[in-house]
Amino acid sequence: MLKLYNTLSRKIEEFKPQNQPLVTMYACGPTVYDYSHIGHMRRYVGDDILIRVLEFNGYKVRQVMNVTDVGHLVSDSDVGEDKMEKGARKFGMSTWEIAKKLEKQFFNSMDALNIQRPTVLMHATDYIQEQIAFIQVLEQKGFTYKIADGIYFDTSKFPDYTKLSGQNINELKAGARVEMVEGKRHLTDFALWKFSYPDGRPFDLTKDTTLSRRQMEWPSPWGLGFPGWHIECSTMAIKGLDTETLDIHTGGIDHIAIHHSNEIAQAEAATGKQFVNYWVHHNFLHVDGNKMSKSTGNIWTVEDIIKKGFDPLALRYLYLQTHYRQEMNFTWSSLEAAQIAYKRLIEEVAKLKNPKLGSPEYEEKFLEAINDDLNMAKALSVLWELIKSDCPDSIKAESLLKMDQVLGLDLDKAREKSKSIKIVVPSEVQRLIEERNHLRKQGSYTQADHVRNKIKKLGYNIKDTPKGIEVEKI
Ligand code: AMP
Ligand code: ZN
Repeated sequence: MLKLYNTLSRKIEEFKPQNQPLVTMYACGPTVYDYSHIGHMRRYVGDDILIRVLEFNGYKVRQVMNVTDVGHLVSDSDVGEDKMEKGARKFGMSTWEIAKKLEKQFFNSMDALNIQRPTVLMHATDYIQEQIAFIQVLEQKGFTYKIADGIYFDTSKFPDYTKLSGQNINELKAGARVEMVEGKRHLTDFALWKFSYPDGRPFDLTKDTTLSRRQMEWPSPWGLGFPGWHIECSTMAIKGLDTETLDIHTGGIDHIAIHHSNEIAQAEAATGKQFVNYWVHHNFLHVDGNKMSKSTGNIWTVEDIIKKGFDPLALRYLYLQTHYRQEMNFTWSSLEAAQIAYKRLIEEVAKLKNPKLGSPEYEEKFLEAINDDLNMAKALSVLWELIKSDCPDSIKAESLLKMDQVLGLDLDKAREKSKSIKIVVPSEVQRLIEERNHLRKQGSYTQADHVRNKIKKLGYNIKDTPKGIEVEKI
């Protein structure tokens, strides 16, 4: 029996889909305005684990993911620029070109981390008419109003607005930015359709040169403009999954208070039905104790990790060690340790032959761990217990391959991989190795030995072999 934490009830609940064995699941996908980094990837590995756990339990998962290629503004309070238009300027390309380029980079990172592709991928710009139709339903039901900036959702008409965040309106006010779109009636109201030009009217560009046309805009019953980010998700989730009530919706914790609360308000106002039964939210990845951000320059991509000599699955292994609802702190030394552990795991599995039967005892313990709100750290410890146990090799091999259906660590390719994963040595150790080489070339052997001891103190052994220097973690 799978148990999951549901943000909506703030409780761990038994998971029951509406139409067994089908599970309908929607994931807010990337906004393709800049490179996806290892913080984003932590979240998508989390979703991948959830899907694999569902499949391990016999469910058939239909996952819809969207690509936000229009409408996601720099600020959550409906002011500021569209991230896509800003990104296009930064890259010196059109919005359509960066959307293509950055979606490719996103999926390259996903593939490198063994994240299964969604069943259906939907681009916001392909569903503009559906989003307009959705807004029209909200308009007919009296949930919208028009101001110079666009068509807005009136949250005072949806009394359950804060049910997902559990916040009261004063907390919301305290957390909100000061900037507010002129004419917006309530702090929590949000844009459904934004106008390219005030009031939705075509503007005389020869007279007002301060307004330039957007790259992405469409005609609508209200005027030329573009959809808000929130309406995209409600529309595509319902259309792509062909249901008004989804089993699961996932996202990052930063989406709870605004984006997902808005998705609920729109969907439930339009359909009169509960939008989502289980809300799953992933916590953030920090770097060296700080939030990953461009200003501190601590944003790393999967490509960076590979360039530094790491196997991307060592990063996947590292993610699995922290529960998805806990904040995770990334350091290079934690990735080095994960690469060592992953290498050891691959080498152990490479030794095993002839998978047969499997161990019910360990497989049961493993299932218990993953079904306990995705306790992957526990699942990994069960895997190591099995490796260290005195079970025959054929039993170990069979159970490990089964476990890897959930872990996604390429254990079935262990034999080919066992030679290719190298220990990544910290830069301080690398510097000392070079210093030692230099000293040896000069014939300063006593000093070279002194440096070798320093390296040892940092936890690495150095061996001089006919093929060159070999480094071992002590
Ligand atoms: P962004 O493309 O920067 O707007 O981020 C898109 C989403 O990715 C955010 O809303 C978060 O849910 C998630 N995300 C961004 N940064 C991180 C991070 N450091 N750790 C985990 N998730 C993140
Ligand atoms: Zn979304």
